[in-house]
Amino acid sequence: MGLLDRGVEIKTPEQIDLMRKAGLVVGSTLELLRGHVRAGISTGELDAIAEDSIRGSGATPSFKGYHGFPGSICASVNDEVVHGIPGGRTLAEGDVISIDCGAIVGGWHGDAAITVAVGAVPPEVTELMRVTEQAMWRGIAAARRGGRVTDISHAVERYVRDQGSYGILEDYTGHGIGSEMHMAPNVPNYGRPGKGPKLVEGIALAVEPMLTLGSKRTDVLEDDWTVVSEDGSWGAHFEHTFTLTPTGTWVLTALDGGEAVLTELGVPFGGR
Ligand code: MG
Ligand code: MG
Repeated sequence: MGLLDRGVEIKTPEQIDLMRKAGLVVGSTLELLRGHVRAGISTGELDAIAEDSIRGSGATPSFKGYHGFPGSICASVNDEVVHGIPGGRTLAEGDVISIDCGAIVGGWHGDAAITVAVGAVPPEVTELMRVTEQAMWRGIAAARRGGRVTDISHAVERYVRDQGSYGILEDYTGHGIGSEMHMAPNVPNYGRPGKGPKLVEGIALAVEPMLTLGSKRTDVLEDDWTVVSEDGSWGAHFEHTFTLTPTGTWVLTALDGGEAVLTELGVPFGGR
């Protein structure tokens, strides 16, 4: 492990392999949860399923106890955009839930999030989810060795603005990840390209656009965690952890390593 360019942690291939293990635990846990999302299930039940899945894989849930956070997932429903605490809230037909999940294997972290509709939702909500997920992929696809961190930020913002009028949260960002969940650098979801630390082999970043159908401004509820849109508009959140290898881009929390989407976007797949 080396430190390079403004304190960014650069991983060895062996450390990236452990992050891939953590990423697969996160990715498979999220797919398991997607299958359980339905009207009538509580966010606390989803949390229990996640914790069993993570621990059953020999990993540790990174969220549990993080600055006192009580859950193994963040479960954010409708106008809650991120950091919702799982508990007694029961999902209803027509809701959307953002599920954020993290796991640690051998001291190395994976972090990813999905937003899932509970049954049928209005078309604009389906579109919000699509734009958010695609913006994440465009951000990851913009990361090339020799580029800069805000190339990602710029690609996310440009894609979102091209799709319509959405609030892009500015108070929360993607981040470096590795021996800790949240590390330097921040990866904002907007801004000019060509700034920030250099993108090099062994860097690992979590890219996570958080969008709303309205305002980019947010409030934090009295539980001191749950982030809601200020105007009550609904939100979506997608996240993946990726790295750059000598052969291309490797999405450590995607079950296929990101190969399908990266190939579609013309980006060399760097998995091993
Ligand atoms: Mg996350
Ligand atoms: Mg994250």
